Amino acid sequence: MRRNLFDDVHEDFRESFRTFLSREVIGGEGRYEQWERDGIVPREVFALAGRGGFLGMSVPERYGGAGAEDFRFNLVIGEACQRAGVGSFGLGITLHNDISLPYFLRYCTESQRERWLPGIVSGELITAIAMTEPGIGSDLASMSTRARRDGEHYVVDGSKTFITNGINADLIITAVKTDPSERHRGISLLVIERGTDGFERGRNLEKIGQHAQDTAELSFSGAHVPVENLLGSEGEGFVQLVSNLPQERLSIAASAVAAGEAMIGWTLDYVRERKAFGQPIGSFQSSRFTLAELRGEVDVARVYVDRCAQALDEGELTAEDAASAKWWCTDLQGRVADRCLQLFGGYGYMTEYPIARAFADARVTRIYGGANEIMKEIVGRSLGL
Ligand SMILES: Cc1cc2nc3c(=O)[nH]c(=O)nc-3n(C[C@H](O)[C@H](O)[C@H](O)COP(=O)(O)OP(=O)(O)OC[C@H]3O[C@@H](n4cnc5c(N)ncnc54)[C@H](O)[C@@H]3O)c2cc1C
Repeated sequence: MRRNLFDDVHEDFRESFRTFLSREVIGGEGRYEQWERDGIVPREVFALAGRGGFLGMSVPERYGGAGAEDFRFNLVIGEACQRAGVGSFGLGITLHNDISLPYFLRYCTESQRERWLPGIVSGELITAIAMTEPGIGSDLASMSTRARRDGEHYVVDGSKTFITNGINADLIITAVKTDPSERHRGISLLVIERGTDGFERGRNLEKIGQHAQDTAELSFSGAHVPVENLLGSEGEGFVQLVSNLPQERLSIAASAVAAGEAMIGWTLDYVRERKAFGQPIGSFQSSRFTLAELRGEVDVARVYVDRCAQALDEGELTAEDAASAKWWCTDLQGRVADRCLQLFGGYGYMTEYPIARAFADARVTRIYGGANEIMKEIVGRSLGL
């Protein structure tokens, strides 16, 4: 079905981002494979992306951005990364653009904007958001990282884990308890900067997929964070998180659908070529049915996600719609990955084939951004249940 979400300007942007991907990410013998082995993307790649205009597109021009408050540009980046089979590079960049940046745009004071936005756009300041702790993930209100006010500083103690961009990040939006006697209302957001005394990074965690993405542990032991690094007001953190999560979940859903499209494309190419019993494996009725089912499911998901993107830009995307998009599209991504991999036979299990990597990368999308069970809780509650 023809998509009517994008205009020419987005297609031009897509073209230049694709060129960036082929020059700086895929190009150069085995560069991406090396990052997958290293467990991290070099920081310089963010600076190159910044130079190309692919970071912080919605930042106002006076801070170096393009002033394009249009989520469709963000979608183009996530989609292109999935189609090129470089999803774990894509996660770092979509986290920076789609997930962290809105906090800086919505809650920064003028002086915070001047300090941080230009670097976020240029890629010199890489961002992360740290909510999850070793003891809590879904139940955010039970977090225990504590920030105690001491004059012009907060003294932060605690730890975070599974933090995307955790090694590369310069600015980490960190959810802390400023009032431990409260649950939701005791949470605040502090921007903790690289080099802060008492802040250390732990391991870059070994994962089953998303290998080029640095996912790290962070620890705070009497970390001294200036009061001027508070985002918004004390006690507002939970509301700030809840209001930004729909965009985060849409970003994950959109990448999941694009990953599904990519996997179907690779599989079609493969089943046309590969022969068994004297005929292309794609000509078996079971293969045709599999691919026809997946094609239909992904097309249906695509229309819903595109509609959500329009709703986001119109300021109308609800938490429930975003939660539905997230659980449905990521479940679908898992089904597509599994069924497409099957059609590759043994080759599908070999990491040199993009389908193998996409299969491993897909598993986490049902967990992060809020586990899919939590998405169903959000939708279920809206049904009055
Ligand atoms: C690769 C990766 C990157 C991540 N990046 C970030 C990041 O950048 N920043 C960040 O803050 N976090 C990040 N996370 C953490 C992620 O958001 C959490 O893992 C997720 O929210 C689930 O929390 P948990 O792991 O503590 O699972 P738990 O909360 O312990 O839940 C475990 C399981 O229990 C079930 N469950 C829990 N609660 C309910 C319920 N109410 N009803 C029904 N079932 C339930 C679900 O099946 C859930 O998957 C990342 C995680 C991974 C793996």
